[in-house]
Amino acid sequence: MKKADILLTHGLIVTQDKDRSVLPDHSIVIIGNRIQAIGPSSDIDGQYEAEKIIDLSGKIIFPGLINTHDHLFQVATKGLGEDMAVQDWVTVVTAPTAANITPDEIYTICLSGCLELIHSGVTSVIDMNYMAYTFGLHDENIHALVDSGLRGRYTSIISDYGLQYGIPEYLIRPTDWFINQYAQLIEKYPPTERLAVWVAIGAPWTVSGEGLDKALDFSKRTGTPMVMHIGENWVDNHCSIDRFGMNSVPYLEKIGFLRPELLAIHCVTLDDEDIKLFAKHDVKVSYNPVSNMYLGNGIPPMMKIQEAGLTIGLGVDGAGSNNSQDMIETMKVAALLQKVAARDASVVNAQQILDWATLGGAKTLGLEDQIGSIEVGKQADLFVIAPNSAKVVPIHDPVATLVYSCGQENVVMTIANGVILMQDGVIQHLDEEKIIQQCQEISLALAERCGSNSKVKRSWKGNAL
Ligand SMILES: [Zn+2]
Repeated sequence: MKKADILLTHGLIVTQDKDRSVLPDHSIVIIGNRIQAIGPSSDIDGQYEAEKIIDLSGKIIFPGLINTHDHLFQVATKGLGEDMAVQDWVTVVTAPTAANITPDEIYTICLSGCLELIHSGVTSVIDMNYMAYTFGLHDENIHALVDSGLRGRYTSIISDYGLQYGIPEYLIRPTDWFINQYAQLIEKYPPTERLAVWVAIGAPWTVSGEGLDKALDFSKRTGTPMVMHIGENWVDNHCSIDRFGMNSVPYLEKIGFLRPELLAIHCVTLDDEDIKLFAKHDVKVSYNPVSNMYLGNGIPPMMKIQEAGLTIGLGVDGAGSNNSQDMIETMKVAALLQKVAARDASVVNAQQILDWATLGGAKTLGLEDQIGSIEVGKQADLFVIAPNSAKVVPIHDPVATLVYSCGQENVVMTIANGVILMQDGVIQHLDEEKIIQQCQEISLALAERCGSNSKVKRSWKGNAL
């Protein structure tokens, strides 16, 4: 008998391999963080002696979902920004929170966000902090990513400009200050497949021309990928025409910003010419449908972006513009929004959505040969659903079942990097109840301290938990 760490047996596996094979009554053998073997349970189970043998009869296994955009610290702002115009939402809710949160607080808040990601089948996340005014805020945000067990990419916004467009003065610093922070961060946290620091620009209108040049130079010099909100709403082009006499995407092309190492978040306002420029430079795109709807920003032209051959990943965006971190919900909304936009239900199907949430996300991370599908040799990043609920049955097509019928309550197991983070719906390595309680207490105290709750009409007193 060969030795293994984990044997998942009798599952229905949605592999996401190149043939999109779905394998009934199959087993997955995990050794360390790798998938060692996949095969019919009747063949495989007799060959391996595993430390943990988990029977997944009646359950469905999927590759781990990849959340390509988040602001984990915004979990603290959940419930504060409903029904507010986007500029108000920034100045009243998210910016004061970013400027007042402490390192201890950010650790617990981010960890709480990660818990929900694990519950919704996520195994990788690209996180974006706002301006960390002390180095400890970087550290504790990163520690939360590491302790969560998720595969993480940490970024923190460079913002040296934008007073006239509503960026509060306290979020602005000279570009060199940010570049220096990044140099220290990358030295302290050198890139691995589990964790890496990437460079983030808030948006084209939150950085000076000099800032864009310096950030691009740093990214190229250090081989660090970049993330940027592009075309989230009308503000991008409005400010770009004001400053540079042209829309933001052509301007970014002109200064050499468009390249394969750039991940563009949102892309709501992209027109046909912008999409052509993105395709020419192989820019990656993160689609965040719940956030786009929540903030009233609009509908990204995802089907045109897909037709142009661009790499697309899905994101939940921060909880401040979502009110949850639910990737299962995001998949359904991602499909529904495109169907509504086209007034044609056939424009996108469940398989396409799952491709974005897995394979597209893996390519966005530059890890397409490591994650995104369940195949021998790849890393063991996967999740399991128990579809035996009234909401979900009957099951005809497991992919459609996941995208259109499931909720995060159906996710019973999440494995990232070969480690079981959740089993039978129970988080294995963290005290979930305690983190949730602390998240509630910290968020109320922080909101009170920084005034981010000033627009919440509250007719009652006390703590709901
Ligand atoms: Zn964002």
